[in-house]
Amino acid sequence: SDLPRQDQAKEFYATYEPRDILGKGLSSTVRRVVEKANGKEYAVKIIDISGERDTCKANIETLKSDTIREVSLLRMCAGHPNIIELHDFFETPTFLFLVFELCKQGELFDYLTQEVSLSEKRTRFFMHQLFDVVNYLHGKRIVHRDLKPENILMDDNMNIKVSDFGFATVLPETERLTELLGTPGYLAPEVLVQAMNEDNDGGYGLEVDIWACGVIMFTLLCGSPPFWHRKQMYMLRDIMAGNYSFSSPLWHDVSDTPKDLISKLLVTDPAKRLTAKQALMHPFFQRDIRWSVAGI
Ligand code: ADP
Ligand code: MG
Repeated sequence: SDLPRQDQAKEFYATYEPRDILGKGLSSTVRRVVEKANGKEYAVKIIDISGERDTCKANIETLKSDTIREVSLLRMCAGHPNIIELHDFFETPTFLFLVFELCKQGELFDYLTQEVSLSEKRTRFFMHQLFDVVNYLHGKRIVHRDLKPENILMDDNMNIKVSDFGFATVLPETERLTELLGTPGYLAPEVLVQAMNEDNDGGYGLEVDIWACGVIMFTLLCGSPPFWHRKQMYMLRDIMAGNYSFSSPLWHDVSDTPKDLISKLLVTDPAKRLTAKQALMHPFFQRDIRWSVAGI
């Protein structure tokens, strides 16, 4: 919208009617809204930049610039069927409004919680779409940095919609990232190593998303994460050592092919980890006629 900023709040509320809350983050609330003109439903992420909850001006400026970056990255990805569509954006002195397509089926996280664990067939369906998105993002040198089942939404046909580009950034080929960002259980070892050695000039790159895909795939198939400890320190130590196993009885009924793929994603050396393109070519995704006949 090109209106002056003060008028954009009016325009937002004139166009959309707010309904129930769908989710809440640190500085954002996501609500269902209805477009008054046609009854169409959307989800709006409302970001509070009034400074009433956070009096530090520097934080507000960071929140604003991060959100503007999130919007520009979402626009770069417009049209991919498995990336959340940004329908509209409003900017006012106190709030930013990001209007998204509505994912009525909610988070993959909630679906998994309800199902406990997923079949190899279901996992193949979700993971193929996820690797396709990651391959697309990495082709544009976009690194997501917060892939996890809470940020993977589903549409009415159970197709995934990757969302929450709040930590995403474009990484030029000659550069490396250094910030400690993401969600603890999904952090790649090189992110932790970077954070611990301040004078380390290695940094990290796109491969962190592949590690997160490995954590997600492991979790989908057995219903619990590969790295978990009540004391977070021990969990982080296990991540850095790549210390996980398929020994739990939960893995007894899972075949070797998906385990082989996971073991090529959860590789501590990012240079030896599969790329998204290589993952898509793994035998786990090479469906042949016998599988469909057997209904696997
Ligand atoms: P945050 O950066 O605060 O984590 P998200 O973009 O991940 O914000 O949104 C928070 C939550 O709101 C999501 O985990 C999801 O439950 C819900 N949500 C976000 N976008 C949508 C959407 N388009 N449709 C349905 N629910 C959504
Ligand atoms: Mg989120």
